[in-house]
Amino acid sequence: MRAAIFDKPGQPLRLTELDDPEPGPGEAILRVRACGICGSDLHATVEGGIARQGGVLGHEVAGEIHALGANPIGDWALGDRVFVVSQFSCGECGWCLIDQAHNCEQLKFFGALGSDQPDGAYADFLRVRTNDLIAVPDEITLETAALIEPLATGLMLVREAGLGIGDRVLVMGGGPIGLSTVLWARFFGARRVVMTEMVPHRLSLGTTMGATDVVDVSGGIDAKQAVTDVLGAPPDIVIECVGRPGMLDQAIDIVRHGGTVIAGGVCMQPDSVSHVDAYFKEPTVRFPATYTKAENEFIMEMVAAGRVDPTPLLSHTITLDELPAAFEALRTPTDQCKVVVSP
Ligand SMILES: [Zn+2]
Ligand SMILES: [Zn+2]
Repeated sequence: MRAAIFDKPGQPLRLTELDDPEPGPGEAILRVRACGICGSDLHATVEGGIARQGGVLGHEVAGEIHALGANPIGDWALGDRVFVVSQFSCGECGWCLIDQAHNCEQLKFFGALGSDQPDGAYADFLRVRTNDLIAVPDEITLETAALIEPLATGLMLVREAGLGIGDRVLVMGGGPIGLSTVLWARFFGARRVVMTEMVPHRLSLGTTMGATDVVDVSGGIDAKQAVTDVLGAPPDIVIECVGRPGMLDQAIDIVRHGGTVIAGGVCMQPDSVSHVDAYFKEPTVRFPATYTKAENEFIMEMVAAGRVDPTPLLSHTITLDELPAAFEALRTPTDQCKVVVSP
C-alpha cells in the first residue's frame, strides 16, 4: 500500500510503498476513505514535536472495513462504514477498569513518538482495534465523518470550560478547532460567542459556525479592548485555539476576574505567563487533551440528526499524492480550513 512517511522536521512527508497491514485478534483493516489534516500533525512534525520519525500520521479518519481479525469487538462486517476514535487506551489500567479510558496512563496516538505507537491513516489502509470504531450512518458521507474528530476536540474544550447557560465566551483563533469550539459553545447555551481571527475567510466561517460576533484582530488592534467593547464586559470563558507564544497570557489578561481559560492551541515552545497578573485575576486555567468514545458517539448522532453541521469546515479534498505538498502549504494560514485526504 501507499503511505506518507514522516522522516524528520523540515522535510515534507514522503510517499512510499509499505506492506499491506494484517489484522490481529480483535482488529480490523480499514480502507481509508477520508483523513483530515490536523493542526496537531503540523505541530507534531516541527523540531521538538511528538511525531515518530519513520512513522505515519493521520488520525481524523473514516473508511470501510476491508478485513477483520479473529474475535472482533462489535457486530462488524466487511464493507461497513466506520469512524475511528483515535486515542487508544490500554484497557487494563485502573482508569480503564473504572470506565475512564480517556485518563489512561498509556494512551497511544497514531504516528506518535515511541516504537509501540500505531501508524496512522495517511495511507491506503489502516490497522485499528474494533472497539475503537463507531458506525457511520448512511446519511453521513465519510468525508463528513472524518470531521467528527476535530468536532470532538472542540467539544472537549467546551466541556472542560464548564460552560454555563448564558455565559459570554471568547474563542481565540478560527482554525478548525476554534470553529468547532464556537459551534459547541453556542450549542450548549453561550449567550454570546465572540471569535477573534486575522484571516477574513475564517472570520466569515466563524459566523457560519455560530459565533454571535467576530473580531478581526489583524493590524495590531487591541484585542482585549475590542472584545470587551463587543461584549460590554470581559468574557466569562476564554478558549485559546491558536497555540502561539503569548496567547495564553493574553487569554488570562482578557478573561473576567475568576473566569476560566482553556488552553486549546498546542504551543510547541515553552510559553511565559505573568503570575502576578494571573493572581489578580484568579482564573481557572485548564489544559484538556482527551475526549471520550461516548462524546464521539454523541457527535455522530447530532450530525446524523442534522442538529449540527460541520460541513462548512471542509474546504478541500485531495489525493494521497497531493498530501506532502498540501501538508507543507498548511503551515502558513491560507483560505483553506479543513483539508481531507481521500486516498
Ligand atoms: Zn485532529
Ligand atoms: Zn489504561
